[in-house]
Amino acid sequence: MGTLVRIKLYAADEEQAKAAFQGAFARIAQLDRILSDYRADSELNVLCRSAAGRPVRISRDLYRVLAAAQRLAQESDGAFDVTQGPVIRLWRQARHDGRLPDPADLRAASARGGFRKLHLNRSGPTATLDQAGMQLDVGGIGKGYAADAALEVLGRMGIASALVAASGDLALSHAPPGERGWKIGIDSRDGPDASFSRVLELSDAAVSTSGDSEQAFEAGGTRYSHIIDPATGEALTNGLTVSVIARRGVMADGLATAVCVLGTERGLALIKKRPGAAAILVPRSKDEPIESARFRGYLR
Ligand code: ADP
Ligand code: MG
Repeated sequence: MGTLVRIKLYAADEEQAKAAFQGAFARIAQLDRILSDYRADSELNVLCRSAAGRPVRISRDLYRVLAAAQRLAQESDGAFDVTQGPVIRLWRQARHDGRLPDPADLRAASARGGFRKLHLNRSGPTATLDQAGMQLDVGGIGKGYAADAALEVLGRMGIASALVAASGDLALSHAPPGERGWKIGIDSRDGPDASFSRVLELSDAAVSTSGDSEQAFEAGGTRYSHIIDPATGEALTNGLTVSVIARRGVMADGLATAVCVLGTERGLALIKKRPGAAAILVPRSKDEPIESARFRGYLR
């Protein structure tokens, strides 16, 4: 999945800790083979080459990720959309070349996407794609799912208190011994004067951060995010960094990406609909961050 994963855990002894790390990282490696866009032979990429016009059997894991993605696509009016692979790839290439994508290429890529062209069937389970040339990209939700899955393995191995961080996607189980929760700093602003002005205290929860801070590129004085708006095929330029707290990593991850696309007003409305979810939206400008109603309740 093109990222580093860090795990912190509390164990009875070194032996248990070692076994737990091994189990959790093995699970993440398994999911990488399923979900990665960087492997031509990942289950996801094989599915894209074979499922046009016919149902193809998929693993439970891939089904769960895609089902969560489709639910979020519905709830966000398509702002979150894993069928945008062709558009996402054009922008990735643009970032690499330092040059904006060709508008005609973007239109053609957009025409190959649309979440209603992906069909899932729980029995099987199977996935079907409406047309050839579609490309699924779970970069906006897969790391959160992987963090959840690793945490689950740790729980089964008797580790009650752990933190799994797949770059900006964190999943946490019970609080560290003697603590009220895991303390997570939210970076108030990127750049050299970044400060952790807000500290969350969380347990049995997940928190994901999305935005343009790390993977953006600049052209003609504009900063383009690695997140795209499916409605226009354009990379985001709104400069928002969004952190979302949710019960599960898969949802926190997907929601954070979706809120970046939706912006403040529609983004907060989406968060409000999801029980227990909370968010903070940090603009790149010096404007004050915007918090959802429930956010304060998760602060230390
Ligand atoms: P990060 O990868 O930095 O943790 P995100 O969770 O926001 O951040 O995921 C961004 C990735 O999601 C992009 O690199 C791309 O693979 C994918 N993506 C981009 N735009 C969208 C979108 N509108 N809906 C779903 N996935 C998207
Ligand atoms: Mg995400």
